[in-house]
Amino acid sequence: MDQKLNIIPPSVKAGEKNWLKRWIKNNKSLYPLFYRLLRCNRDVFILRNFWINTDTLFSSVEIETCSICNRKCPFCPVAYDNSQKVIMSDEIFNKIITELKELNFKGEIAFAGYGEPLLDKRLEEFVKRIKKELGSSVEIVTNGDFLTYERFKQLISAGADTFRLSQHDKEPSEQIKEFFSNVQKNELKYIIFQTATEGSITFTNRGGSVKMKTLHPFYCAPMHLIIRADGSVPLCCNDYYEEVKLGNVTKQRIIDIWNKPFYREIRNEIKRGIFNLEICKKCLDLKPFEDRNI
Ligand code: SF4
Repeated sequence: MDQKLNIIPPSVKAGEKNWLKRWIKNNKSLYPLFYRLLRCNRDVFILRNFWINTDTLFSSVEIETCSICNRKCPFCPVAYDNSQKVIMSDEIFNKIITELKELNFKGEIAFAGYGEPLLDKRLEEFVKRIKKELGSSVEIVTNGDFLTYERFKQLISAGADTFRLSQHDKEPSEQIKEFFSNVQKNELKYIIFQTATEGSITFTNRGGSVKMKTLHPFYCAPMHLIIRADGSVPLCCNDYYEEVKLGNVTKQRIIDIWNKPFYREIRNEIKRGIFNLEICKKCLDLKPFEDRNI
């Protein structure tokens, strides 16, 4: 019988014990320096991407099945945007899966975006379908507010491989603590718990759409395809307001969007550390923050 875990999220507790993490946590003024040394180095970014052939098929797809979120977090544009939220239609989801199958896509699929995926009751069915038709690994990015142990088990049975719990409260919520109190030791492998407070290295200004100091501008993943709930394909996961519209899967085939000369050119530029788009300049803090009246 598996041992029950009476713990708060493991990474939080582990962080308290680890002297290096504790030291880093207590020396927040060093973050920018660390960052510049370890992650902000353009040469490192270019070197890391040197081998990527940006003319091949995307390596991962992020699907936003609904753009509704129950939270209003200061680091997320959803908190400042009152426009109507969207639920992805079954037709769009079917079209995505059919086309990915035709492309023999085997990369990772993440249920993420700007909505909370667990608000979508179809999630288990979607995961099952991906596993059956594509065999891709499936990640669910969630704020954890609706993650009960039962739902976790259902989603694992459906085929989910990873739950990325992204919750940045000062203290993990009661819901999360309750969830972890039920998780078995052998089930921890499914969970990545991410937590950070404002000022830590996790946040970005989301392409200039939130007032957040960007400390890791080289966050972009040129081989990552994003599909929003209405079928639109923006530049990247930071392009909330779709400043760079690359296409819409309801009107075009995914492969045609991906192969657009403009999209190819952008991917190749990003790979080489060239950021000419206005949104990228804001994202990288190369340009003063544009006030969106938020
Ligand atoms: S906005 Fe530009 S620089 Fe920022 S993550 Fe997206 S592609 Fe990269």
